[in-house]
Amino acid sequence: MNKLQKMLAELPKVDEVLSDERVAELCYTVPRSLIVNTVRNVIDKERQRIVKGGEAADCFDVNNFFNVIFEEIEKRNKPNLKRVINATGTILHTNLGRARLCKTAINAIQEITEGYSNLEYDIAKGERGSRYKHVEELILQITGAEAAIAVNNNAAATMLCLSAMAEDKEVIVSRGELVEIGGSFRIPDIMASSGAKLVEVGTTNKTKIADYIKAITEDTAAIMKVHTSNYRIVGFTSEAKLIELVELGKKKNLPVIYDMGSGLITDLTDYGIDEPTVLDGLKNGVDVMLFSGDKLLGGPQAGIIAGKKKYIDLMKKHSLARVVRMDKLTIAALEATLRSYLDIEKAKKEIPALKMITESIDSVKRRGERLIDLIADAEILHGEIILAEEQVGGGSAPNSIIKGYAVKIDTSIPAEKIERLMRKSTVPIIGRILRGNVCLDMRTVMDSELEVIADCLMDIDRRYCK
Ligand SMILES: *Cc1c(COP(=O)(O)O)cnc(C)c1O
Repeated sequence: MNKLQKMLAELPKVDEVLSDERVAELCYTVPRSLIVNTVRNVIDKERQRIVKGGEAADCFDVNNFFNVIFEEIEKRNKPNLKRVINATGTILHTNLGRARLCKTAINAIQEITEGYSNLEYDIAKGERGSRYKHVEELILQITGAEAAIAVNNNAAATMLCLSAMAEDKEVIVSRGELVEIGGSFRIPDIMASSGAKLVEVGTTNKTKIADYIKAITEDTAAIMKVHTSNYRIVGFTSEAKLIELVELGKKKNLPVIYDMGSGLITDLTDYGIDEPTVLDGLKNGVDVMLFSGDKLLGGPQAGIIAGKKKYIDLMKKHSLARVVRMDKLTIAALEATLRSYLDIEKAKKEIPALKMITESIDSVKRRGERLIDLIADAEILHGEIILAEEQVGGGSAPNSIIKGYAVKIDTSIPAEKIERLMRKSTVPIIGRILRGNVCLDMRTVMDSELEVIADCLMDIDRRYCK
């Protein structure tokens, strides 16, 4: 037997590892299949390492081997989808789950999913009911629309709307509004998938009402306006006013569809947010409005379609409605979120997205000061309050910058190291590196998360002090 063969022969067998007392004990808390797979993988990796290294490979180290196994089992036994702390200052961070839910929505999900529910059951009549009923009435109350349906997300809402209203027909859209949201949602592609034919009019920077008029043919099914929710065209620009489109639609007997994206209910210009509201659109006479549930509405992922009953009825009956329907978790959370809007002032305090946007700059600063107090004993880390620019994000209000504060971490430890250690801590903390320093934005951090952040920073401090 040569040296390599000897080293390989020293590797333990899966069964041997499993019968080790410490591993066997884990079986009480960790699924056995997970343990077996992990052990097999770690042995395989060890074998590959030895084969690759050949005669020069380090010998098998039994202590290290068991440590790797325990670490790996712990890692694999944790959920993949986990809570993180958002210290980026982007309120509706698409990669971090967009809107945080309000308390009543969280409670509703728990209540509805713990037991059975009247999801599709009419309790008064004792017969089959509709899942859409639970939120429709509330949407009407809040927006003043005639009818509404809520589906899985706004992309689905757009797809359903175009399929039901314009399959094999033409829909006119300005060239300045051919939006792409997050890669896979592109107006021309969604249009094609729905079976509607896109008719582009105008130019990137200028589209006039005359351009729409010229494009109308016998095959036109609708005029569509898409809110440029994640970019703005500035400079020498013009677009047809919503009211002009509505007038044109009335004259030519064509519905106007408005994909507005963000779903802002109450005006937030006082807080520096430059976005149209759902109510404005409907008041201007738009026939069908489309918007997301988890952008500025601040609820669960959903797509809401509100407008004239005759169009909404077409969508309710369409076969795609079933494909894009909402789940009961979403319905529970959306209903609770919408209920909050029955009192707008209360909504601004209860709905996290609105609460964060409307929180005063002083209050954000105080949170930063508390964090700095909590890490005052650190030796090589120091927090410093700095002015920061925050944004709404999630494809909403691309031009609106909210002024706020961040805690800048001043230290000799490289910023990339701190950023990585924070990201890899038990509750990952996602911050930003600005001009060579880790900066933790305080607008998107919850008071209850300050101690977790402080503990993580103190840990890093101790680690580097040694
Ligand atoms: C965000 C957005 C969408 C897509 O909405 P999702 O809810 O993410 O599917 C569609 N249109 C516009 C204008 C948007 O801003």
